[in-house]
Amino acid sequence: MSRFKGKSRIRPLVRALTAYVPGEQPKIRGLVKLNTNENPYPPSPKVLAAIKAAVDGRLRRYPNPTADALRGKLAKLHHCRPDNIIVGNGSDELLALATRAFVEPGETVQFFNPSYSLYPVLAEIHGARVNAVPLAKEFGLPTAPDLRRNGAWDFSAPLTFVTTPSAPSGRGYGTAELEELCRAQNGVVILDEAYVDFARENAMALALKYPHVIVSRTFSKAYSLCFQRVGYFVGDAELIAALQKLRDSYNVNGLGQVGALATLADLPYYRKNFQRIIAARQRLSEGLRALGFGVLPSETNFIFVRPPKIPAEAWLEKLRERRILVRWFRAPETRDFLRITVGTEAQVRALLKAARQIARM
Ligand code: PMP
Repeated sequence: MSRFKGKSRIRPLVRALTAYVPGEQPKIRGLVKLNTNENPYPPSPKVLAAIKAAVDGRLRRYPNPTADALRGKLAKLHHCRPDNIIVGNGSDELLALATRAFVEPGETVQFFNPSYSLYPVLAEIHGARVNAVPLAKEFGLPTAPDLRRNGAWDFSAPLTFVTTPSAPSGRGYGTAELEELCRAQNGVVILDEAYVDFARENAMALALKYPHVIVSRTFSKAYSLCFQRVGYFVGDAELIAALQKLRDSYNVNGLGQVGALATLADLPYYRKNFQRIIAARQRLSEGLRALGFGVLPSETNFIFVRPPKIPAEAWLEKLRERRILVRWFRAPETRDFLRITVGTEAQVRALLKAARQIARM
């Protein structure tokens, strides 16, 4: 038995930490799961075949430490060099590396509120100060002059995260407005484009134009590969090299690299799914509007809606009783809304049917 009490060994910062809470993954039969923005369609048959073919004796060996084959293909796709790219164990890992690489403990990590709820957790883990500044009306992006007038925004924050399209609202931002914001900023800006394949515009050009701008992408959502954990950053070679120094030796697992490579070889399969999801998003939005929901325009694979009659939290429960799981965030600026992932046509029908029943109660 150790003389030390376990708790006294834990750093005060870690003791005080509130961990990130991911969306639930319950094992309920027949559940219509629309709470974590997963793609309702499976990876392409070619991706599944490539991963299965890689499951053999080679699993005993280490994977390529820097995912070079994948970086090579991504560089071609985005018209840049492999040293403009780092691959991570999901983009979450890279967001964490960025806080460690660009921010001294005590300095500021900045983002808009509401946005991805992981950002404040990453700041806290690092002992950084959080500057969360409200978005404009209807979750719009404030302009640089607005931010200047408002005074809360820190144009010299060492690290700023911008979720674009916005989450959880789903609102899309134009490249021109993002560029204006980036130009006004002195520290590193990470444009988190986790959902950009469902949007009208993307801001990849900014990562290749400005040495302080990084674009974050993931295979999780649009490419149906959450399980494999593969994300990447595109940006200035010096910033990327700094992140490479900090990552774990073999941060991207081998089957993840195989899956992501095979994905890039079958992009038309995925583009067809984007169109199906965008069409289902339209039908879901119209169906809910007809029932009295306020539906914000979305450029993602989820919609953010203000339900009628009873509070959003009560809707969450009533939908759950009907085996439909959506997401609700308790914070004051989000508590009147539900975030609903766009599923298959059948899932959209099931949700609309349940919503009709609840609206009639
Ligand atoms: N950014 C945003 C805005 C997200 O919603 C998510 C998924 N929760 C991520 C990044 C991280 O995705 P992953 O780690 O699966 O690449």
